Amino acid sequence: MIKRTLKQVAEMCGGNSRGFEPTTIIEGVAIDSRSVRPGQLFVPIVGERFDGHQFAKQAMEQGASAMLWQANRSLPEELTTIPRILVKDTLIALQQLAKAYRSELMTRVIGVTGSNGKTTTKDLLAAVLATVYDVHKTEGNLNNEIGLPLTILQLAEETEVAVLEMGMSEFGEIELLSNIAQPDAAIITNIGESHMVSLGSRAGIAKAKLEIITGLNEQGLLLINGDDDILTQQMQEKSIDEMTFDTRTFGLLSHNDWSAAIVALAEDKSEFNVYYNGESSSLENVVLKVPGKHNISNALAVIAAARFFGVSAEKIKQGLLTAQITGMRIESTLAFNGAKLFNDCYNASPSSVKAAIDYVAGLSNYKRRFVVLGDMLDLGEQERNMHEEIGEYVVNHPIDVLLGYGPLTVETIRVANEGKASSTAYHFQQKEQLVDWLKQQLTAEDVVLVKGSRGMQMEEVVTLLEKG
Ligand code: ATP
Ligand code: MG
Repeated sequence: MIKRTLKQVAEMCGGNSRGFEPTTIIEGVAIDSRSVRPGQLFVPIVGERFDGHQFAKQAMEQGASAMLWQANRSLPEELTTIPRILVKDTLIALQQLAKAYRSELMTRVIGVTGSNGKTTTKDLLAAVLATVYDVHKTEGNLNNEIGLPLTILQLAEETEVAVLEMGMSEFGEIELLSNIAQPDAAIITNIGESHMVSLGSRAGIAKAKLEIITGLNEQGLLLINGDDDILTQQMQEKSIDEMTFDTRTFGLLSHNDWSAAIVALAEDKSEFNVYYNGESSSLENVVLKVPGKHNISNALAVIAAARFFGVSAEKIKQGLLTAQITGMRIESTLAFNGAKLFNDCYNASPSSVKAAIDYVAGLSNYKRRFVVLGDMLDLGEQERNMHEEIGEYVVNHPIDVLLGYGPLTVETIRVANEGKASSTAYHFQQKEQLVDWLKQQLTAEDVVLVKGSRGMQMEEVVTLLEKG
């Protein structure tokens, strides 16, 4: 983690530490006063609900060695002797500090963005690179304008590669993160429909994700999902001047630079052969322990990035086999009466719901396949259409029973019932009712997948089903 003198930190973040001992050392940065460790720099962030400046005293009691202070905040008498750096805006100062620190490091950085699959890709990539390098990755989902700078400030001088997740909900956010992280390689996992409200259309979303090239190293590598026509098209429209770096595509379709031929899709893993520019490669019979076709696409991005970083085919296979993935992404457990239960409740958008339906449709070892869907949120004007589309998608796939919860899934259920006379699709007003109904149905020969947007908290359904 960052270790610098007060004077150095002040220069790096554009602040003023005059009047305090310049050689005071800070080691690490914290924004939450409760988690401050001795020697750290406390950075009070001004949020919507809280102002971090109110907790500065507590941070000092926890042993912080210095703090940033925003010039427009009054300083309590009791804090006047505490070493501090005066800045105009603490969040901007945190970002500047991270950017300056990153420039001083030899660490190579990979930025991962996209609508779905960032965390999974980041975890897989970090596991693969860790077979060769000293790697640091974004913890959990710390992927925004605060989390990304904090992650950079956690890097040790000897960290060889950092894998950083970059999230966004508005234009300009990925540009900011990319300029701070200055990546050597960048991945765009896919373009979905999340944040339609602020970005307007899928083209808008693709444009916002492509902002990742603004900070990309001129000799770097951009990896994009070539199965996505909007993304490919927007890349083709870019001028040569904007693209001194190399670009490669990955995806399941064979026209991609990196593609795959599926050998087997099982409920808990996949196996595939990798093709590079249409030719078979030394990566054959690759086994991936995170199931679903969409994760093969994520794995292809990982393979392409790992090859760029010189990792051998053998090590790549080893890393993919042992990777640990953050929870609630197609996590398997048992439910009531021994039915197989897949918890995919972390989040949902049309593309990720379709990916989940494909996955369940492919599970041929079960008598009946149940899908439980909560609303997909944040889709803007198109939300009704998109919920209807999912109903149609279910009708066209071998799903035996579809259950819905939430006001928007009413449309999904309606379309599913219209589409197929023999289909069973029900809507429930309460999770408890849904679970009670499901319990009466489930046997050890059935499989259930539960999914919904974060705000729908569909994991409550999973917990109730697990309890039996
Ligand atoms: P967030 O924006 O919340 O950070 P994320 O981009 O990090 O999400 P993950 O947490 O890796 O994404 O995965 C979330 C869900 O997205 C998974 O449970 C899965 O259903 C779906 N998903 C993952 N990869 C893909 C993909 N390449 N295409 C479509 N859906 C995907
Ligand atoms: Mg994530």
